[in-house]
Amino acid sequence: MATGKINVSVDNIFPLIKKFLYSDHEIFLRELISNATDATLKLKHLTSIGEAKVEYGNPIIEVKVDKEGKKLHVIDQGLGMTEEEVKKYINEVAFSGAEEFLNKYEDSAKDAGIIGHFGLGFYSAFMVADKVEIITKSFKDEPAVHWSCDGSPNFSLEASDKKERGTEIILHIADDSTEFLEDHRISELLRKYNKFMPVPIKFGTKTETLPKPEGAKEEDPAPTKEVDNIINNPNPAWTKQPADLKDEDYKSFYRELYPMQFDEPLFHIHLNVDYPFNLTGILYFPKLTNDLNIQKDKIQLYQNQVFVTDNVEGIVPEFLTMLRGVIDSPDIPLNVSRSYLQADGAVKKISSYITRKVADKLSSLFKNNREDFESKWNDIKIVIEYGMLSEDKFFEKADKFALYPTVDGTYYTFEELQEKIKENQTDKDDKLVILYASDKEAQHSYIAAAKDKGYEVLLLDSPIISHLMQKLETSKEKISFARVDADHIDKLIQKEDTQISKLSDEEKEKLKADLEAVFGEKSNYTVQLEAMDSDASPFIITEPEFMRRMKEMQQTGGGGMFGMGNMPEMYNLIVNTNHELVSEILNTKTAKKKERLINQSLDLAKLSKGLLKGAELTEFIKRSYDMVK
Ligand code: ADP
Ligand code: MG
Repeated sequence: MATGKINVSVDNIFPLIKKFLYSDHEIFLRELISNATDATLKLKHLTSIGEAKVEYGNPIIEVKVDKEGKKLHVIDQGLGMTEEEVKKYINEVAFSGAEEFLNKYEDSAKDAGIIGHFGLGFYSAFMVADKVEIITKSFKDEPAVHWSCDGSPNFSLEASDKKERGTEIILHIADDSTEFLEDHRISELLRKYNKFMPVPIKFGTKTETLPKPEGAKEEDPAPTKEVDNIINNPNPAWTKQPADLKDEDYKSFYRELYPMQFDEPLFHIHLNVDYPFNLTGILYFPKLTNDLNIQKDKIQLYQNQVFVTDNVEGIVPEFLTMLRGVIDSPDIPLNVSRSYLQADGAVKKISSYITRKVADKLSSLFKNNREDFESKWNDIKIVIEYGMLSEDKFFEKADKFALYPTVDGTYYTFEELQEKIKENQTDKDDKLVILYASDKEAQHSYIAAAKDKGYEVLLLDSPIISHLMQKLETSKEKISFARVDADHIDKLIQKEDTQISKLSDEEKEKLKADLEAVFGEKSNYTVQLEAMDSDASPFIITEPEFMRRMKEMQQTGGGGMFGMGNMPEMYNLIVNTNHELVSEILNTKTAKKKERLINQSLDLAKLSKGLLKGAELTEFIKRSYDMVK
């Protein structure tokens, strides 16, 4: 038996391993299974090129828990190691790898943004074990060896009688890590990290029900048999060629990724590049709600089919983190902080590649099946609008397929919309005014007034739309957006011909005084007398576009003016001086009746803006019954 000391520059690396990677102990299993997978795939390669003259067969990796013995075994049928190789790869290479990693990690440990802890490798076993054994037999015709190390730099190496090719790693689980002797914990880890690894992984057995033999009676139980419990799918969809996959395959892979998700994805994007970086993956557009925050962190990042993290911030552009799916790339550096990641050239290229692929896919969906694209618009608009706001490259492309639906369900692109409304909705300053509503029901009377004029009214209701309107107004020429209740209809789109008022200046003064006498101090409405069509409403409450939009922008993050989010709503009360009722108010002699007419009119205006509530509403209803009597 040989014994020796692992070359250590630090006195003892094992306490360091434990200390530094405290929070991430569980990754040891991923590391060991990665090594087992590497060993298996290396053998596959060697047999395929004739270097190894052995039968490759159908190798699997087995994970076994020995609860009584407090041991965890990881067994592979890969290429194994000779004595020389153990000395070299375990005592020198693996060790120096681990040491190098820890040195690097020590520097960046204060940086909160470490992603995963890839690369610690074999020695991560010492995070959970106080003794580790390796029993390995090379595919070469050499005796098997048994290496053992008890967590100090001292190891022993002796002959072993292992007959089958491959490597068995035995971890003697430390007292503070007995969770890793629990089947459910190991299952959980295998599901998390190894679900799509390329070599089948066995963890225990399971009972499979066989078909009943012919002639079996109804009450006879179906025969069963014990089979290997293989926990992974070694050939996940993203590793295949898009041409070999049908729509159904993508959908079933989605279910495999998100077993708890019952919605079907709307469509998918298969990513596949090998130059100038390596990246494969499948992204799915799920049905999205208007809540921006709860839907993040659903994309999983893999490296060569090994799960790394589900936080892809910095790699996938922010607006696409609402999508789902997987990205697999060996080219993403993992042991670095996020700020470094965002500055990394390869990562930047990956991010812009993904943006471009998503834009191209959307564009082709739009071109090839517009009807279908329109039907999905409501579920995807939030991503597209967010992308248009945050990525200029995406804006340029999306401007051609982003849709603007009308309240009647017609979908226009921006260009089509411009063409459609330019005749009727250009104001006297040659500005194109785009009218919109955010709520079809609540703004019904305003929408109706706009439609009477032959105007198109869009229905724009996503939470970030005010930001997008702001961006469109500054990036395109001579356009502005106005919500239908931003002003009265003649002012929303101001044309040359102004109406002539039926009232004289004197009468206007008197009307204003009458109104103010009734509203008194309580009102937060600015009264505005306007000469409008005699059949337009006599009283209209409006909410100026600018203030309202700034407030909205601030409520949905950024933009707008400081402090606006907390300001009270500001309303204008437009009084149509050409309306009969207004003349009647002016000419009514009894103060009591005048007051009642004014109150009733104001309440009706409030009602149509959805502002009449509580005690005011109760009072209004009572007064109305009195009036119909
Ligand atoms: P890495 O996997 O990055 O090379 P590790 O520390 O995980 O680093 O492993 C060090 C080396 O030990 C591997 O490169 C490999 O040569 C050898 N090794 C580890 N596990 C196995 C195994 N199960 N079968 C064969 N060789 C192994
Ligand atoms: Mg490794």
